Amino acid sequence: MLGERKKICCGCGNDKDNSIFLAHEKMLGMGGAFEYLNCAACKSIQIVDIPDHMDVYYPENYYAFGNLIKSKGLRNQFKKIRKTLFDWKLWFFSYPEYYNWLSPLKISKDAAIADIGCGNGQLLYELSCTGYTNLHGFDPYLKKETSTKGLKLQRKGLYEVSGQFNLIMLNHSFEHMVNPLESMKKLSELLKPKGQLLIRVPVTDAEVWEKEGINWFQLDAPRHFFIPSQLSMRILGEKVGLKLNLVVFDSNENQFVITNLYKDGKNMKEYNSTNLINQKFIKNWKQKADILNETGKGDQACFYFKNNG
Ligand SMILES: [Zn+2]
Repeated sequence: MLGERKKICCGCGNDKDNSIFLAHEKMLGMGGAFEYLNCAACKSIQIVDIPDHMDVYYPENYYAFGNLIKSKGLRNQFKKIRKTLFDWKLWFFSYPEYYNWLSPLKISKDAAIADIGCGNGQLLYELSCTGYTNLHGFDPYLKKETSTKGLKLQRKGLYEVSGQFNLIMLNHSFEHMVNPLESMKKLSELLKPKGQLLIRVPVTDAEVWEKEGINWFQLDAPRHFFIPSQLSMRILGEKVGLKLNLVVFDSNENQFVITNLYKDGKNMKEYNSTNLINQKFIKNWKQKADILNETGKGDQACFYFKNNG
């Protein structure tokens, strides 16, 4: 029998008709069953009990904590020129994916930018190469704290962060946080007036969640504590005085590639060690992801909030 607290959705507060389902650890093939609550009102999903020893689910080689790769001299010049030409709409070749989700922000090079849950800090490093000068990364699992001109990386969780920022980004870290409403409140306090908050997360609006259920790879039990819907993100923002200005779906082929892998009973270690995926499918899956993104059915999205206070 569930306690009262656990029947309540931590996204919208609904306690009526919520259901429970079991999800399993699939990325590492560890198994284990974890209870998740499915909110009948806002359609977000959330873990019921957080395991005592979460560190066992974050192995040494967890992807977010590989070594930061630095570039030098000419390569850095190239990165700077490429970004400038892109901003001027004069770059017609391939470019890093993060350009897409940064462009709606219109952020100046000297803006105070925080990346919460920055992993090894690679994204901020890339931004520093393109000319941004006031960059702050925070991650409770950061291996080494560093401070160089314009870029500071600190081993801190959200609640230890202080200061005020023009832009705060969470790139696939919000879903790892325990209490989404408290997290949003703290984030709103860290924003300067007119400051912007970008949260990139998996979303339950996904067609793949509807069709494949617990094999959906971004369920990622038990690491993902809370997976919102568009509706619950809007509600969370409203509760802390942040306006949701824009939602852009940015899902990719992984929603098919990795979900199919899990359906076949395989894990990511097996995926990485063998070439299991037929490359000719990848092109089709990329196109399918683009269509789902256009129709608001992709499995992840960028949420752009603004502090109007
Ligand atoms: Zn809810």
